[in-house]
Amino acid sequence: MTPFKSIALIPAAGMGKRMGASINKQYLQMNGMPIVARTISVFEQSPLIDAIYLVIPVEEIPYCQKHVVEAYGFKKIVAIIPGGKERQNSVMNGLNAMREHVSDDDVILIHDGVRPLITEHLLRDSIAMAALYDGALVAVPVKDTIKTVRDGVVCDTPPRESLWQAQTPQSFRFGNIFTAHRAAETDGFFGTDDASLIERSGGEVHIIRGDYRNIKITTPEDLILAEAFLSVMKREDTR
Ligand code: C5P
Repeated sequence: MTPFKSIALIPAAGMGKRMGASINKQYLQMNGMPIVARTISVFEQSPLIDAIYLVIPVEEIPYCQKHVVEAYGFKKIVAIIPGGKERQNSVMNGLNAMREHVSDDDVILIHDGVRPLITEHLLRDSIAMAALYDGALVAVPVKDTIKTVRDGVVCDTPPRESLWQAQTPQSFRFGNIFTAHRAAETDGFFGTDDASLIERSGGEVHIIRGDYRNIKITTPEDLILAEAFLSVMKREDTR
Protein backbone atom coordinates (compact mmCIF):
# COMPACT_ATOMS: atom_id res chain seq x y z
CA MET A 1 0.00 0.00 0.00
CA THR A 2 1.34 3.44 -0.94
CA PRO A 3 0.44 6.53 1.13
CA PHE A 4 -1.07 8.05 -2.03
CA LYS A 5 -3.56 6.99 -4.68
CA SER A 6 -2.67 6.34 -8.32
CA ILE A 7 -5.25 7.65 -10.74
CA ALA A 8 -5.42 7.29 -14.51
CA LEU A 9 -6.53 10.25 -16.63
CA ILE A 10 -7.26 9.10 -20.15
CA PRO A 11 -7.76 11.86 -22.74
CA ALA A 12 -9.79 10.31 -25.55
CA ALA A 13 -11.51 13.39 -26.92
CA GLY A 14 -9.72 13.78 -30.24
CA MET A 15 -11.80 13.41 -33.38
CA GLY A 16 -9.51 10.81 -34.96
CA LYS A 17 -9.78 12.33 -38.43
CA ARG A 18 -6.46 10.95 -39.68
CA MET A 19 -7.86 7.43 -39.60
CA GLY A 20 -10.38 8.23 -42.36
CA ALA A 21 -13.06 6.02 -40.75
CA SER A 22 -16.72 6.97 -40.31
CA ILE A 23 -16.55 6.47 -36.55
CA ASN A 24 -13.93 7.97 -34.26
CA LYS A 25 -10.76 5.87 -34.66
CA GLN A 26 -10.75 4.91 -31.02
CA TYR A 27 -13.86 2.71 -31.48
CA LEU A 28 -12.33 0.72 -34.35
CA GLN A 29 -11.83 -2.92 -33.45
CA MET A 30 -8.35 -4.09 -32.56
CA ASN A 31 -8.34 -7.89 -32.49
CA GLY A 32 -12.07 -7.81 -31.63
CA MET A 33 -12.15 -5.02 -29.03
CA PRO A 34 -12.46 -1.24 -29.50
CA ILE A 35 -9.04 0.43 -29.25
CA VAL A 36 -10.05 2.70 -26.36
CA ALA A 37 -11.56 -0.23 -24.44
CA ARG A 38 -8.23 -2.07 -24.74
CA THR A 39 -6.43 0.96 -23.33
CA ILE A 40 -8.87 1.26 -20.42
CA SER A 41 -8.67 -2.47 -19.69
CA VAL A 42 -4.95 -2.27 -18.86
CA PHE A 43 -5.67 0.30 -16.12
CA GLU A 44 -8.84 -1.51 -15.00
CA GLN A 45 -6.91 -4.75 -14.50
CA SER A 46 -3.89 -3.19 -12.82
CA PRO A 47 -3.91 -3.59 -9.02
CA LEU A 48 -1.87 -0.38 -8.87
CA ILE A 49 -4.64 1.87 -10.24
CA ASP A 50 -7.36 3.16 -7.91
CA ALA A 51 -9.60 5.09 -10.31
CA ILE A 52 -9.95 6.13 -13.95
CA TYR A 53 -11.15 9.48 -15.34
CA LEU A 54 -12.06 9.30 -19.02
CA VAL A 55 -12.33 12.36 -21.30
CA ILE A 56 -14.56 11.98 -24.39
CA PRO A 57 -16.07 14.41 -26.95
CA VAL A 58 -19.37 15.52 -25.42
CA GLU A 59 -21.49 14.14 -28.29
CA GLU A 60 -19.88 10.69 -27.95
CA ILE A 61 -20.50 10.23 -24.23
CA PRO A 62 -23.73 8.14 -24.60
CA TYR A 63 -22.07 5.91 -27.26
CA CYS A 64 -18.97 5.43 -25.14
CA GLN A 65 -21.02 4.72 -22.02
CA LYS A 66 -22.93 1.97 -23.81
CA HIS A 67 -20.35 0.42 -26.13
CA VAL A 68 -17.26 0.74 -23.95
CA VAL A 69 -18.02 1.29 -20.25
CA GLU A 70 -21.11 -0.93 -19.96
CA ALA A 71 -20.13 -3.41 -22.68
CA TYR A 72 -16.88 -4.28 -20.89
CA GLY A 73 -18.13 -3.73 -17.32
CA PHE A 74 -15.39 -1.28 -16.36
CA LYS A 75 -15.74 -0.57 -12.63
CA LYS A 76 -12.91 1.88 -11.99
CA ILE A 77 -14.22 4.67 -14.24
CA VAL A 78 -15.46 7.27 -11.79
CA ALA A 79 -16.24 10.02 -14.31
CA ILE A 80 -16.62 10.59 -18.04
CA ILE A 81 -15.76 14.20 -18.74
CA PRO A 82 -16.44 16.24 -21.92
CA GLY A 83 -13.26 17.03 -23.86
CA GLY A 84 -11.92 20.37 -25.04
CA LYS A 85 -10.65 21.84 -28.30
CA GLU A 86 -7.01 20.75 -27.88
CA ARG A 87 -5.61 17.78 -25.99
CA GLN A 88 -4.33 20.16 -23.32
CA ASN A 89 -7.87 21.49 -22.78
CA SER A 90 -9.17 17.93 -22.45
CA VAL A 91 -6.55 17.09 -19.82
CA MET A 92 -7.38 20.31 -17.95
CA ASN A 93 -11.07 19.36 -17.95
CA GLY A 94 -10.11 16.01 -16.44
CA LEU A 95 -7.89 17.60 -13.78
CA ASN A 96 -10.65 20.05 -12.86
CA ALA A 97 -13.14 17.19 -12.55
CA MET A 98 -10.95 15.22 -10.14
CA ARG A 99 -9.81 18.23 -8.12
CA GLU A 100 -12.30 17.82 -5.27
CA HIS A 101 -11.69 14.08 -5.01
CA VAL A 102 -7.92 13.74 -4.92
CA SER A 103 -5.08 15.03 -2.77
CA ASP A 104 -2.06 16.96 -4.02
CA ASP A 105 0.18 13.95 -3.35
CA ASP A 106 -1.83 11.50 -5.45
CA VAL A 107 -0.09 10.34 -8.62
CA ILE A 108 -1.93 11.03 -11.87
CA LEU A 109 -0.99 8.89 -14.88
CA ILE A 110 -2.03 10.76 -18.03
CA HIS A 111 -2.31 8.29 -20.90
CA ASP A 112 -3.56 8.66 -24.49
CA GLY A 113 -6.78 6.74 -25.17
CA VAL A 114 -5.32 5.47 -28.44
CA ARG A 115 -2.19 3.88 -26.93
CA PRO A 116 -3.55 0.43 -26.03
CA LEU A 117 -0.24 -1.48 -25.78
CA ILE A 118 0.89 0.01 -22.49
CA THR A 119 2.11 -2.62 -20.03
CA GLU A 120 1.76 -3.17 -16.31
CA HIS A 121 5.49 -2.83 -15.70
CA LEU A 122 5.53 0.65 -17.30
CA LEU A 123 2.65 1.66 -15.02
CA ARG A 124 4.60 0.40 -12.00
CA ASP A 125 7.77 2.28 -12.99
CA SER A 126 5.78 5.44 -13.78
CA ILE A 127 4.16 5.52 -10.34
CA ALA A 128 7.45 4.86 -8.55
CA MET A 129 9.27 7.60 -10.45
CA ALA A 130 6.45 10.16 -10.26
CA ALA A 131 6.49 9.74 -6.50
CA LEU A 132 10.17 10.75 -6.40
CA TYR A 133 10.48 13.53 -8.99
CA ASP A 134 8.49 16.37 -10.60
CA GLY A 135 7.39 14.05 -13.38
CA ALA A 136 7.92 10.66 -15.03
CA LEU A 137 7.90 10.39 -18.79
CA VAL A 138 7.79 7.13 -20.73
CA ALA A 139 9.95 7.61 -23.82
CA VAL A 140 12.15 5.72 -26.29
CA PRO A 141 15.43 6.80 -27.93
CA VAL A 142 14.86 7.96 -31.53
CA LYS A 143 16.10 5.52 -34.15
CA ASP A 144 16.28 7.89 -37.11
CA THR A 145 18.33 11.05 -37.54
CA ILE A 146 16.06 14.03 -36.85
CA LYS A 147 16.32 17.31 -38.79
CA THR A 148 15.01 20.76 -38.01
CA VAL A 149 13.49 22.08 -41.24
CA ARG A 150 12.24 25.54 -42.23
CA ASP A 151 10.56 26.22 -45.60
CA GLY A 152 11.79 22.88 -46.93
CA VAL A 153 15.42 23.54 -45.99
CA VAL A 154 17.34 21.76 -43.23
CA CYS A 155 18.55 24.18 -40.57
CA ASP A 156 19.95 21.81 -37.99
CA THR A 157 20.72 18.17 -37.15
CA PRO A 158 20.46 17.78 -33.37
CA PRO A 159 22.74 15.03 -31.97
CA ARG A 160 20.74 11.83 -31.97
CA GLU A 161 22.10 10.60 -28.61
CA SER A 162 20.13 13.33 -26.85
CA LEU A 163 16.81 12.77 -28.64
CA TRP A 164 13.97 10.72 -27.19
CA GLN A 165 10.46 10.19 -28.47
CA ALA A 166 7.85 10.99 -25.81
CA GLN A 167 5.09 8.46 -25.23
CA THR A 168 2.52 8.17 -22.46
CA PRO A 169 1.85 7.62 -19.60
CA GLN A 170 3.27 10.86 -18.30
CA SER A 171 2.86 10.86 -14.54
CA PHE A 172 2.93 13.54 -11.88
CA ARG A 173 1.75 14.34 -8.38
CA PHE A 174 -1.66 16.00 -8.77
CA GLY A 175 -0.55 19.28 -7.13
CA ASN A 176 2.35 19.66 -9.60
CA ILE A 177 0.48 18.95 -12.80
CA PHE A 178 -2.60 20.93 -11.83
CA THR A 179 -0.45 24.00 -11.05
CA ALA A 180 1.47 23.60 -14.33
CA HIS A 181 -1.73 23.26 -16.40
CA ARG A 182 -3.28 26.28 -14.70
CA ALA A 183 -0.16 28.37 -15.37
CA ALA A 184 -0.15 27.31 -19.04
CA GLU A 185 -3.82 28.23 -19.36
CA THR A 186 -3.20 31.66 -17.80
CA ASP A 187 -0.21 32.29 -20.09
CA GLY A 188 -1.95 30.98 -23.24
CA PHE A 189 0.83 28.39 -23.66
CA PHE A 190 0.05 25.19 -25.54
CA GLY A 191 2.34 22.19 -25.33
CA THR A 192 1.92 18.94 -27.26
CA ASP A 193 2.34 16.92 -24.09
CA ASP A 194 1.95 17.31 -20.33
CA ALA A 195 5.62 17.00 -19.41
CA SER A 196 6.41 20.17 -21.38
CA LEU A 197 4.19 22.14 -19.01
CA ILE A 198 6.25 20.97 -16.03
CA GLU A 199 9.53 21.61 -17.92
CA ARG A 200 8.61 25.24 -18.63
CA SER A 201 8.28 25.92 -14.91
CA GLY A 202 11.74 24.45 -14.28
CA GLY A 203 10.51 21.07 -13.04
CA GLU A 204 12.64 17.95 -13.42
CA VAL A 205 10.94 15.28 -15.51
CA HIS A 206 12.69 11.90 -15.45
CA ILE A 207 12.67 9.40 -18.30
CA ILE A 208 11.46 5.83 -18.09
CA ARG A 209 12.71 3.76 -20.98
CA GLY A 210 9.50 2.74 -22.75
CA ASP A 211 8.63 0.17 -25.38
CA TYR A 212 8.69 0.78 -29.16
CA ARG A 213 5.42 -1.15 -29.29
CA ASN A 214 3.59 1.41 -27.13
CA ILE A 215 2.46 3.24 -30.28
CA LYS A 216 -0.26 5.84 -30.67
CA ILE A 217 -2.80 4.60 -33.19
CA THR A 218 -3.24 7.52 -35.55
CA THR A 219 -3.42 6.10 -39.10
CA PRO A 220 -4.74 2.82 -40.60
CA GLU A 221 -1.15 1.45 -40.82
CA ASP A 222 -0.76 1.93 -37.06
CA LEU A 223 -3.76 -0.32 -36.42
CA ILE A 224 -2.22 -3.13 -38.50
CA LEU A 225 1.05 -2.77 -36.57
CA ALA A 226 -0.72 -2.64 -33.21
CA GLU A 227 -2.62 -5.87 -33.95
CA ALA A 228 0.63 -7.59 -34.87
CA PHE A 229 2.36 -6.32 -31.71
CA LEU A 230 -0.57 -7.46 -29.58
CA SER A 231 -0.34 -11.02 -30.94
CA VAL A 232 3.39 -11.12 -30.14
CA MET A 233 2.86 -9.67 -26.66
CA LYS A 234 0.15 -12.23 -25.90
CA ARG A 235 2.55 -15.00 -26.92
CA GLU A 236 5.24 -13.49 -24.69
CA ASP A 237 2.58 -13.26 -21.97
CA THR A 238 3.37 -9.61 -21.27
CA ARG A 239 -0.38 -8.88 -21.66
O1 C5P B 1 -4.22 14.38 -31.24
P1 C5P B 1 -3.28 13.42 -30.63
O2 C5P B 1 -2.96 12.28 -31.55
O3 C5P B 1 -2.08 14.00 -29.99
O4 C5P B 1 -4.12 12.75 -29.46
C1 C5P B 1 -3.57 12.04 -28.36
C2 C5P B 1 -4.69 11.71 -27.41
O5 C5P B 1 -5.29 12.90 -26.94
C3 C5P B 1 -5.79 10.87 -28.06
O6 C5P B 1 -6.16 9.81 -27.20
C4 C5P B 1 -6.91 11.87 -28.28
O7 C5P B 1 -8.21 11.31 -28.21
C5 C5P B 1 -6.69 12.84 -27.12
N1 C5P B 1 -7.23 14.19 -27.41
C6 C5P B 1 -8.15 14.76 -26.53
N2 C5P B 1 -8.71 15.98 -26.82
C7 C5P B 1 -8.37 16.66 -27.92
C8 C5P B 1 -7.42 16.11 -28.83
C9 C5P B 1 -6.86 14.88 -28.53
O8 C5P B 1 -8.48 14.14 -25.50
N3 C5P B 1 -8.95 17.84 -28.17
